[in-house]
Amino acid sequence: MKVLVADDSTIYRETLKGLLLSWHYEVVLASDGDEAMAILSGQDAPRLALLDSVMPGLSGPELCQAVRAGHQAYTYIILLSSRGEEDDVAHGFEVGADDYLCKPFKEFELRARLRAGERIVRAQEDLMRAQDALRFQATHDSVTQLPNRRGIMEVLKRELHRSSRSQEPLSICMADLDHFKRVNDAHGHLVGDEVLRWVATLMPGALRQYDAIGRYGGEEFLVVLPGCSETCALEVGERLRQRVANTVFSSGPAKFPVTMSVGVCQWHSGMAIDELLNRADQALYRAKDLGRNRVELASHSERESKIKAHSSAPTTATSTK
Ligand code: GH3
Ligand code: MG
Ligand code: MG
Repeated sequence: MKVLVADDSTIYRETLKGLLLSWHYEVVLASDGDEAMAILSGQDAPRLALLDSVMPGLSGPELCQAVRAGHQAYTYIILLSSRGEEDDVAHGFEVGADDYLCKPFKEFELRARLRAGERIVRAQEDLMRAQDALRFQATHDSVTQLPNRRGIMEVLKRELHRSSRSQEPLSICMADLDHFKRVNDAHGHLVGDEVLRWVATLMPGALRQYDAIGRYGGEEFLVVLPGCSETCALEVGERLRQRVANTVFSSGPAKFPVTMSVGVCQWHSGMAIDELLNRADQALYRAKDLGRNRVELASHSERESKIKAHSSAPTTATSTK
């Protein structure tokens, strides 16, 4: 484990470095408080720190305060001080130190306290890993590893906000596998799952880096295309369709083509998220009705007819909002 040793005394720095290396710690050195702060705020910073109380720049206690006010991962801090009065010790803990050791210290005691700190840091890392895994599980689908409905909806909401601000276009594709029930019926559910995984790995190849795809439902995928007009989205939809249709699925003895239908819709300012999804869904249903394995664009007719109904009403001036 990496440990930061911050001390303005060369003798203490070198002594501590020698001890820590002999106990198999990796050591990072700083000779004043500002340098120590820069190290603790940097990438891959040590999570265990031995800070001298009195140093040029930020003192040990000031450094503690600054670290606790930040948002970086938890740093376990041991303050080293030649001042062992009750008030000094109490102040050290008050500003956020985890431990306090008076100089001169006994080697065995420093080692024991470092070990205690290491246990806390490791427990914290385990907790963070578990939290990350839970966050991933909550927003991803276990069959395809793609974002699940919740995950892709978070992306869509975020991108809608961004487009509202930037006035950039945004479009979505709703893609649904054709006659997927037949795949399950003919080859079994496990092969069906394999098809879903296969499609989930094929489709991103037709997308740009900043596009996003998620499993919206059973065999339905939602693709979010930031900066994409409906013309561009139709092209992406067609690329997605072709990529799947032009590759034969094969797993053991099972070998068969898979196709999907795609509904495309561009978002326009003022359009609610549900309306965007509904209109893409309607286009998808039309693609199914027209024979499947095709891409259809959401029609404007419904929206336009609503606008016409408003504007032709006799009380237009007062009834429109
Ligand atoms: P269409 O072309 O009209 O979309 O027909 P379809 O058969 O694809 O659609 P339908 O909605 O009738 O059936 C969808 C099937 O998808 C039924 C359901 O069992 C299957 N399905 C949904 N989720 C999963 C899954 O996670 N794994 C597998 N193997 N099948 C799934
Ligand atoms: Mg289907
Ligand atoms: Mg479906």
